[in-house]
Amino acid sequence: MSFINNWLRHDIQSINAYHVPESDGMLKLDAMESPFPLSDNLIRQYLSYLARSELNRYPNPSATELRQTLRKLMDIPSEFGVLLGNGSDELIQLLALACDANDTILGVTPSFVMYEMIAKLTRLHYHSVDLDDAFEIDLSAMLHAIANHQPKLIFIAYPNNPTGNVFCRNSIEKIITASNALIVLDEAYYAYAHDSFLADIKKYPNLVLLRTVSKIGFAGMRLGLLIGAQNSITQLDKLRLPYNINTLTQVSANFLLQEKDTINANAKIILAERDKLSSALGSIDGLQVYPSQANFILFKAPKANALFATLKQQGVLIKNLSNTPKLNNCLRVTVGSSEQNQKFITVVEKFYD
Ligand SMILES: *Cc1c(COP(=O)(O)O)cnc(C)c1O
Repeated sequence: MSFINNWLRHDIQSINAYHVPESDGMLKLDAMESPFPLSDNLIRQYLSYLARSELNRYPNPSATELRQTLRKLMDIPSEFGVLLGNGSDELIQLLALACDANDTILGVTPSFVMYEMIAKLTRLHYHSVDLDDAFEIDLSAMLHAIANHQPKLIFIAYPNNPTGNVFCRNSIEKIITASNALIVLDEAYYAYAHDSFLADIKKYPNLVLLRTVSKIGFAGMRLGLLIGAQNSITQLDKLRLPYNINTLTQVSANFLLQEKDTINANAKIILAERDKLSSALGSIDGLQVYPSQANFILFKAPKANALFATLKQQGVLIKNLSNTPKLNNCLRVTVGSSEQNQKFITVVEKFYD
């Protein structure tokens, strides 16, 4: 037996690592990235701004300026607190670290896989409630699970990944008021949705929101935020590692995220492209397209595994969810630029021709 097999926690040895598929040279429509690069003009200004950063010094510990920029970009009221993370994944971990040994995290299935993964890594219990056949929250099952498991944290993605829908607002409000848990609504896709719980933080002391810049054009930046009542954020901030947002991220984000008009305009383009792509997929015989409030589309397709393989062979990478519970024959495609979507849809149409 090797050293590490003896040494490492046994539950970690049996976990599958978070898998990121090889994508060199492929059209990436698998990870909800934005298709829009920075403009040449912006890059020039950005580089001279970046050159002023002092890499011999530690970053600003509380990223003061950047938090202001994010407040402006996302219209976050000044009375709420904002805590930054190295991607929202880090903030999910931070919330898990705030729990006591033996606490339970509650989620729904199918949803974002990191909630369960981080629960495992932090040795917390994880329980999840199946969504119904329309991918809606089964409220009575959820309320039962809350009563039975007394969760400390409840993660709900709004809109949900990988299904793309927003859950019934009334169900979520019932969950918030029925539980003593901290309810974490993950609004990674807020820019593509017609509803948000941002204003509701005022109403519900046990509600916090997660957001990220990953799905609005800056996945490479690794920057997420937790928004909540100021006193909650002040306490939770004790769990954050000092200097978790490095200088390059702070300076880059500070400059690039001031382009609110461009960011919003890009989101609008994606919304229009999403509608086009949905109709194109929907008009193919046998395909079932689920409604989306995000920058991706989930669809059920006959011979999904073969379609996925054909796309891959033609250089188009999407996400195969076909072997995921409740998502038999389902694939998820990120909405790209018009040309990218066209390339994708052409392969799909030919496959079923
Ligand atoms: C993509 C995604 C995230 C990841 O955010 P990062 O800021 O890139 O870590 C979080 N939550 C959901 C639901 C997502 O789909």
